[in-house]
Amino acid sequence: MLHSPVPRSARRTVTVLVAALLALLGLTAAAPAQADVRPALAPNFKAPFPCGQQWTYSHHSAEVRRALDFIRSDGGSTAGTPQVASAAGTATRHYQAGGAGNYMVIDHGGGWKTYYFHLASFSVANGQSVAQGQQIGVTGSTGNSSGAHIHYEQLYNGVGQNIRINGTALAYPGSYGQYHLRSDNCGNTNFTTWGTGVRVRADARLNAAVVTTLPGPTPVYVECQKQGDVVHAEGYTNEWWSRLRDQRGFVSNIYIDHPDARLPGVPVC
Ligand SMILES: [Zn+2]
Repeated sequence: MLHSPVPRSARRTVTVLVAALLALLGLTAAAPAQADVRPALAPNFKAPFPCGQQWTYSHHSAEVRRALDFIRSDGGSTAGTPQVASAAGTATRHYQAGGAGNYMVIDHGGGWKTYYFHLASFSVANGQSVAQGQQIGVTGSTGNSSGAHIHYEQLYNGVGQNIRINGTALAYPGSYGQYHLRSDNCGNTNFTTWGTGVRVRADARLNAAVVTTLPGPTPVYVECQKQGDVVHAEGYTNEWWSRLRDQRGFVSNIYIDHPDARLPGVPVC
């Protein structure tokens, strides 16, 4: 018997918490070492090809790990089409003659990597940080490949995983044309500015030349961001600046309509 009785509502909360904890422990102990624990840990991977396009995919018998090969099924040309980052991370360039050809690896952190094989060319520098949806290469047929396609893989601690897009597991058909995937990998580097008379400068410096002035809230495409002069304005302090693709200059992130000082999903310049 308790000397100081726990109120009824509090007792119920404790009971629920204990039950939840036991369920969690039970689940953890029972879960197999790979697929089932994966969704909670993985980045939210999106299609490795541009927003709006539809591609079909297959897994042939001689395929490495849990790869899927993709070709376009929306009438567009597979060869020469951009490949885009499935999630944000650090991209590194590689080459394997007679195998992967030109290939890109993106390290997403937390043990997760994605592979993109047979590229005709690379679109970002070795070691560059990339945003989800950012172009990383051009689809080709380099290495051991019988025609242009994207060979795509998701790995956790070096082990190929069943591929999931937006958290949903894809099928592994033996031939193309049975399953299709439409990309919603539209990037998240579109923002809107706020305030009036916002100056866009040639660099992330308060004394850099003004290249243009935004009269009011303006939709902008942020290519990348970097640290520059510390800006105090509108009650905020921020040292991060965004490079605007279309205005060809930098604006303090204070004037980007987003609560974070450093914008999520935007690579560092
Ligand atoms: Zn393949």
